[in-house]
Amino acid sequence: MTIAREDCLATGIMTSDSRVLLFFIDGLGIGTRGPHNPFNGLSDAAPLAIFHNEPAEIPFAGILAPTDACLGIEGRPQSASGQTTILTGVNAPKIIGAHKQGFPNQALLDIIRERSIFLQLKNKGIESITFANTYTKRFFERRPRWISATTAAVEAAGLRFNVVEDLKAGRAVYHDFTNEMLIESGEIVDVRTPELAGDVLAGIVRSHQFTLYEYFITDKIGHAQDYDAARRGLPMLARFIRAVLQNLDLTNTTMILTSDHGNIEDLSARNHTLNPVPTITWGRNAEAIASRIETLADITPAIVWTLTANATARSQRTTSTSNEV
Ligand SMILES: [Zn+2]
Repeated sequence: MTIAREDCLATGIMTSDSRVLLFFIDGLGIGTRGPHNPFNGLSDAAPLAIFHNEPAEIPFAGILAPTDACLGIEGRPQSASGQTTILTGVNAPKIIGAHKQGFPNQALLDIIRERSIFLQLKNKGIESITFANTYTKRFFERRPRWISATTAAVEAAGLRFNVVEDLKAGRAVYHDFTNEMLIESGEIVDVRTPELAGDVLAGIVRSHQFTLYEYFITDKIGHAQDYDAARRGLPMLARFIRAVLQNLDLTNTTMILTSDHGNIEDLSARNHTLNPVPTITWGRNAEAIASRIETLADITPAIVWTLTANATARSQRTTSTSNEV
């Protein structure tokens, strides 16, 4: 059956078939080798084990873009301002004049509520968007006074929060992707291997045009300076990431891994580091996206570009096909 150009427009067939997963890891920098760095001598940690001034071993043809998290503002980069920057493309520390730790203040919330990547994509007609993480009943029953940058972005865009029932149905993952912390908190769910969790997250990515996933145990381990937890947890996280990649169609999907500041790569101090963070891109447009990323403020524009550029390319292809028939 021939589909006329007007029908394509009317039915939405011309929307892009490309997908993006933004895999956010809190507190992961590019460090130096030495006993302070838990990646030093750690096997099975690709693609996370990246060292200053060394070629990186990145499976699935990933491309590394070392990324500045300091954003031209003095002091150590912090979570609230760094995450706001990643999720909006706005240099948030520059706007508020400082790096802001913990949870966003009103000024950062205003930036998120006006400029989040979710809203920017929606405004460009990309509606199939999800935050893959799971929220527990406790969050809704006793809402915390301070909310994370991601939670604020989800709310402001009117996205649905995934709950434990979604996780059980294979439609969500917990920030602790093995579910062990969920089980410890009293939820009746199955433990997931990193491979199974990767399969689930890849399935979520296949069903949406844009998916965000957030992992923050790395930052907690960094603040606790817990070397043993780092040596146990980092290979598990690396397995999870490789399993996601294994299960994605990288011809139409881009995966972008990034972080808000360094921390776990230097356990000699409890503070965040000044190190660049690794942004790694895989799959569709990986090289072009990596070439656009120098600071945390470049992530959102690169994602909006790749999803809308692909839509334009697809639209042009469809138009030319329609014109030929
Ligand atoms: Zn952080």
